[in-house]
Amino acid sequence: MNAATKKRLVILGAAESGVGAALLGVQQGWDVFVSDGGKIKDDFKVTLQEHNIPFEEGTHTLEDILNADCVVKSPGIPEKVAIMKQIRAAGIEVCSEIEFGYRYKGNSKIIAITGSNGKSTTTMLTYHTLKTAGYDVALVGNIGYSFARQIAERPCEWYVMEVSSFQLDDIHTFRPEVAILLNITPDHLDRYNYEFNNYIASKFRITENQLPTDYFVVNQDDKVIKNYLDTHSIQAKLTYFTMDEMNFGNEGAQIYNDRLFIRHEGETTDMSINDMSIKGRHNQYNSMAAGISARIAGIRKEKIRESFSGFTGLEHRLEHVATVGGVDFINDSKATNVNSVWYALESMKKSTILLLGGQDKGNDYTEILDLVKEKVKVIICLGVDNKPIHDVFDSVIETIIEVKSAAEAVHAAYALAERGDVVLLAPACSSFDRFKNFEDRGLQFKEAVKNL
Ligand code: ADP
Repeated sequence: MNAATKKRLVILGAAESGVGAALLGVQQGWDVFVSDGGKIKDDFKVTLQEHNIPFEEGTHTLEDILNADCVVKSPGIPEKVAIMKQIRAAGIEVCSEIEFGYRYKGNSKIIAITGSNGKSTTTMLTYHTLKTAGYDVALVGNIGYSFARQIAERPCEWYVMEVSSFQLDDIHTFRPEVAILLNITPDHLDRYNYEFNNYIASKFRITENQLPTDYFVVNQDDKVIKNYLDTHSIQAKLTYFTMDEMNFGNEGAQIYNDRLFIRHEGETTDMSINDMSIKGRHNQYNSMAAGISARIAGIRKEKIRESFSGFTGLEHRLEHVATVGGVDFINDSKATNVNSVWYALESMKKSTILLLGGQDKGNDYTEILDLVKEKVKVIICLGVDNKPIHDVFDSVIETIIEVKSAAEAVHAAYALAERGDVVLLAPACSSFDRFKNFEDRGLQFKEAVKNL
């Protein structure tokens, strides 16, 4: 087939998901063109070149884009950019990379995980459980390979997928057999016209194509989720996880008296939360969600217990870095919104020096005001603009200082700390004002701690 008879697929953005979609597109016989308005990372460029996929960077050439039959938009690209407006005006079909991948997934099954916090942890734990049980399974989405690349390079029977709201914004037929919604708290509001309801609706799209035979696993203790469910009908089998005794039922996951119960089709799996390797209340929620989903996927109880006791958490998520001079240093660089900081502070048992701030996404810090009053002795501001932090905390925290780097923050924290304190990096913000990404921020923090 020559290019003229092939359908044209234009991919905007050449990072993991864009390159994955390009590889799958070529394999499926599309005439593929990749356009990135910024600079493409070298390793992605090499992949495109190796597969003879035409691309451009630093510009969007309209005549090469507006002739597309379908545009795959990378999740990082907002609707407000000029090229997206032109594509929409031209009436071209736009889909996200998970939607594009979905069309070629064959008979495989998907467990898709979304929520404001806990996605990566729950995705990893679920994947680890299926893998331990010997399933043919891949970890895809925001962690690991993109879904499309995995399908192009090594298709599996099961995919455990971390899904962001941005990926859900452009789905049309995407239908996971099991969808998990962990929680909803304000995040990324800059991408949703500062309308929380738009963000909520976007998260619930994970279930919009599900059938009555599919499962929608949701957090029953989350008020935002509950309110939505009270006013909208869901086709899939609603399956709850909860810590509220009043809600316990015959199907779903519960934590009660320090024990995790997973009930599915008349069978109960239970284990002590002390035998679960990841700690903290938030991880108990993540474990309930992963546990019930693994049971739905057919995993036996012994394998669930084995997986949950052997799973080590993830880097940059409440990661204990070191204890220096009696001071604990904890890297929670992935705490990029206020709610994750709430959970981080909730699990702190010692007087805390909090490293907070970065690129603010419209944070409401009053949500953590009580916990800060109770546990925090010093705030060290990491951002370029720290006014929102001062506005809320100046009246309750005596020492609030500003620094320009992770190393400076660690030194200042260490100087102010006393034996028995904890230094917690939990910024509640994106990192892009001073760092490449949250990993870079966490690594610089850890490096500075090691050099103390
Ligand atoms: P995500 O992929 O959704 O960003 P992660 O698992 O990477 O989630 O965790 C992000 C941050 O949120 C970390 O600081 C982590 O400690 C915290 N966290 C993890 N699970 C939860 C949860 N269920 N509720 C609130 N915060 C959580």
